[in-house]
Amino acid sequence: MRRATPIARPPAATAAERLAGLRARIARACRDAGRDPAEVAIVAVAKTRPAAAVEELIRLGVDMFGENRVQEAAAKWPALRAAHPGVALHLVGQLQSNKAAEAVALFDAIHSLDRPSLVEALARACDRAGHAPLLFCQVNIGAEPQKGGCAIEETPTLLKRASDAGLRVEGLMCVPPAGLEAAPFFALMAKMADQLGLPLRSMGMSDDLEAAVMLGATHVRPGSALFGERPAPGGGQGEAPPLPAAGG
Ligand SMILES: *Cc1c(COP(=O)(O)O)cnc(C)c1O
Repeated sequence: MRRATPIARPPAATAAERLAGLRARIARACRDAGRDPAEVAIVAVAKTRPAAAVEELIRLGVDMFGENRVQEAAAKWPALRAAHPGVALHLVGQLQSNKAAEAVALFDAIHSLDRPSLVEALARACDRAGHAPLLFCQVNIGAEPQKGGCAIEETPTLLKRASDAGLRVEGLMCVPPAGLEAAPFFALMAKMADQLGLPLRSMGMSDDLEAAVMLGATHVRPGSALFGERPAPGGGQGEAPPLPAAGG
C-alpha cells in the first residue's frame, strides 16, 4: 500500500484535477488487481449538478453520466444530448413504474431494475419504443429495509421474470450500507453476478472505488470525486454553523 500524503490536502480545485485524480485512483486499483483500466467505465453521477459542470467534464473527455431522478434528467439532458450526441446517460436511482416509458426514451442504461412491477412496465415501454436500454438489476445487498433493490434471495426469480418478459439484463448494481466497509458487499454482489452468469457489475462510488475495482466493477459511479462536494443535504444551500455570540 502506498503511504498516505502526510498533510490533509484541500479538495482538488478544478474539474481537470479531480478527473486526473480519479483516473489515477482507478489505474492504481487496476494495477493492484491485474486489470485493464479500459474494463472499468466511469459513470459520472451528475445529480444536482448544473449542465455547465457536465459540459466541463465532457470537454475533458468524460462520455458517460448518471442521474438518479427521471425528472431532473428530463430537464437537464435533452439539450446536452443534442449538443453532445456521443455521450451516454445512465439512470442510477430508483424508477417508478409510471415513468418507465420516459426512462426508456431518456436513458441508454438503467441500473435500478428491482421489482416485478417494474419488469412489466419496462417490457411494455421497450416494446413500444422498439429499443431497450442496457439493464442492471439492483440488489439490496445489505438487506436494508429502507433501501431500493431486489432482495438477494429473490434476484434469480426477478431475472427469470425479466427474461420471460423479453428483457435482457446484463449486470447487477448495488449501493452498500452507509458506514460499513463496502468490500464484503461488493464481493457478495460479484459472486452473485458470477453465479447468475451476468458480465456487468455496477459498484463503487467516490469513497469506495478502489475496493469495487479490486472486486471486479465494470461500471463505477463517482459523483463528488468528479464534481466536488455536494452542499449539505436537506437545506439545498447547506446551513452555516451558528455564529458564536458576539461580545467579550
Ligand atoms: C449519488 C450517487 C452516486 C455518487 O455518489 P458519490 O458519493 O458522490 O460518489 C453513485 N451512485 C448512486 C446510486 C448515487 O445515488
